[in-house]
Amino acid sequence: MTDQPSATLGILGGGQLAQMLALAAIPLGVRPVVLEPDAQAPARLCAEHLHAPYTDPAGLERLAQCDVVTLEFENVPVEALDALRGRVPVRPGADLLARSKHRAREKAALREAGAKTAPFVVIEQAADLQGALRQVGGRGILKTSELGYDGKGQARVSSDFELGQAWDDLGGVPCVLEGLVPFEREVSLAVARSAAGGLAFGPLVENVHRNGILRTSVYPAQSPDGTEARARDMARAVAEAWGLEGLMTLEFFQLPGGELLVNEVAPRVHNSGHLTQDGGGVSQFEAQVRAVLGLPLADFAPLLPCAMVNYVGVEGAVPDWAAIDALPGTHVHLYHKAWRAGRKLGHINLVAPDEATLRERLRVLEGLIP
Ligand code: AMP
Repeated sequence: MTDQPSATLGILGGGQLAQMLALAAIPLGVRPVVLEPDAQAPARLCAEHLHAPYTDPAGLERLAQCDVVTLEFENVPVEALDALRGRVPVRPGADLLARSKHRAREKAALREAGAKTAPFVVIEQAADLQGALRQVGGRGILKTSELGYDGKGQARVSSDFELGQAWDDLGGVPCVLEGLVPFEREVSLAVARSAAGGLAFGPLVENVHRNGILRTSVYPAQSPDGTEARARDMARAVAEAWGLEGLMTLEFFQLPGGELLVNEVAPRVHNSGHLTQDGGGVSQFEAQVRAVLGLPLADFAPLLPCAMVNYVGVEGAVPDWAAIDALPGTHVHLYHKAWRAGRKLGHINLVAPDEATLRERLRVLEGLIP
């Protein structure tokens, strides 16, 4: 007999998101188990590590014994989901993953749910290129429908010639051509939903990218009044239409005036939500754990202004760790990965008593991280 909560949570994938999900699960009385083929994966240090391919029968058998299985990436092999079906709840489920890992399907499903997106044309064969750029407004971004992330698998185009060239360069694979959006800022918001239908929202966060990779996130976003409510309405509509069980993050383009277009959806915790770890409220990681296990869950916005700067490997330059540690309100999070240029190696959160102090210290912090 025990009067303490206890459960086992399986996680498909063992990268930094799994590491931070595991670290959030442990204090809730939850044992994390990750299935991950990389021997050096970040989550190995804080979870039972099933060191095997995602389709490994013994690994999947162990996951099937967990109370619930969740995931840290959307490209989970279909065979793994099939092997778990009917044996253990997988949250989010296979239908939602099938939508969110395929740009064309995702955009169609977003519009069906009532969310707005950039204008787009699906490119599956050479004939689809004809007139496509004109349809999206004359300037666009061609993106592969599958397996693109952090700005990879995409190209900006502003003529039919460039479009043809870009499609060839991307290998002639199925793509989506999106109109170039003249956004004022990029923002994101996470929504968590339990299997029973209870909803909880994360904060509206403002994001700045560098070379296609997230550089900085800041809370609160400097968006016009009403923007957060609009983001929540869209997140609620999509979560309910797609039958979300778990947590998903919507990335938006905010137009001048505050209108929002959904850029993409991640069916999981997201880099832009890392600042929730140190803002004083429940973190996005705890929110995902709570949502998938059906534990009590409320909104998970930070209680104080906070920000995050990503630490990405840059040739010949390292962060000034001593100065970072000396700056009030910093929290270093490292992923225990081997150094590689362009690789996300960690992030530094910053929390401050007010927005003016946050912005001032953030400028200093950015100067300390190449
Ligand atoms: P994505 O991989 O779709 O998140 O795109 C990476 C980044 O490229 C986004 O965060 C934007 O900064 C930029 N971007 C992507 N799509 C568009 C678009 N349709 N219009 C303008 N900028 C875009």
